[in-house]
Amino acid sequence: MVEGIVLRDESPPPPALKLAYVYILNLPGVKRKSVFPATSPLIMAMKQTSTPKYRLIQAECWVFDLDNTLYPSTSDLFSQVDQRMTRFIADFLDMSLPEAAELRRTYYLEHGTTLAGLMALHGMHPEAFLDYVHDIDLTAVTPDPVLNQALSRLPGRKVIFTNGPTNHAVRILERLSISHHFEDIYDIVGADYIPKPKPEPYDALMRRCKLKPSLTVMVEDLARNLIPAAEMGMTTVWVRPAAVREQDDLVPAHVDHVVDYLAQWLGALTAE
Ligand SMILES: [Mg+2]
Repeated sequence: MVEGIVLRDESPPPPALKLAYVYILNLPGVKRKSVFPATSPLIMAMKQTSTPKYRLIQAECWVFDLDNTLYPSTSDLFSQVDQRMTRFIADFLDMSLPEAAELRRTYYLEHGTTLAGLMALHGMHPEAFLDYVHDIDLTAVTPDPVLNQALSRLPGRKVIFTNGPTNHAVRILERLSISHHFEDIYDIVGADYIPKPKPEPYDALMRRCKLKPSLTVMVEDLARNLIPAAEMGMTTVWVRPAAVREQDDLVPAHVDHVVDYLAQWLGALTAE
């Protein structure tokens, strides 16, 4: 039984309460620092007044990011993708690998994805780039029976919303043995190469999947990609990368739930 799980309220709580959310949502056995003891009057009051977990389970649709969300960031697939992006850029723009690596980082930060920067500033055609950078070794991604069982128990439609291409998503989902849970993959091609966190693909996804934001939960490892979802009224779940798990003061205000281990969290959420 997970206590204190809440759906996004119409008006977000003040920052102090938002912090409190984080701590009462921790799974048993996961040791956390806390600015509010779980037994404090504030937390006890929240437990009594916050929306219980059945509201989360009653979500009509779950929107999942793919990379570093459905498999752990410790799988480190993105180091392969980054290396291949750098090599592609070096060839495409005839520059050194360090120069290409710097450009990759700059475009990622300024355009949402490296691809978006290359298309906007260099007129690059995306197909060859996407094929090349996602041609990676996936042996670090293995079947996840805990996630599979949790998704089986989780009510509601489930869709993938990724800045990558569909064929990469299909490969990952097959490696995890969870493809059968998802009714749709909304990828970067379907989004006309406009990446999260730009607002356009969120609006398009909402129309495509007929989402009702107040009944939709979005799950992501990049907190910035949850900003448009929160602004639309979705409930947001941040699957926090291992590198920032000890930095509790960095939980952004637009995040409703912080999760360190998605499969275990969903498992606890859907347990009888
Ligand atoms: Mg991701």
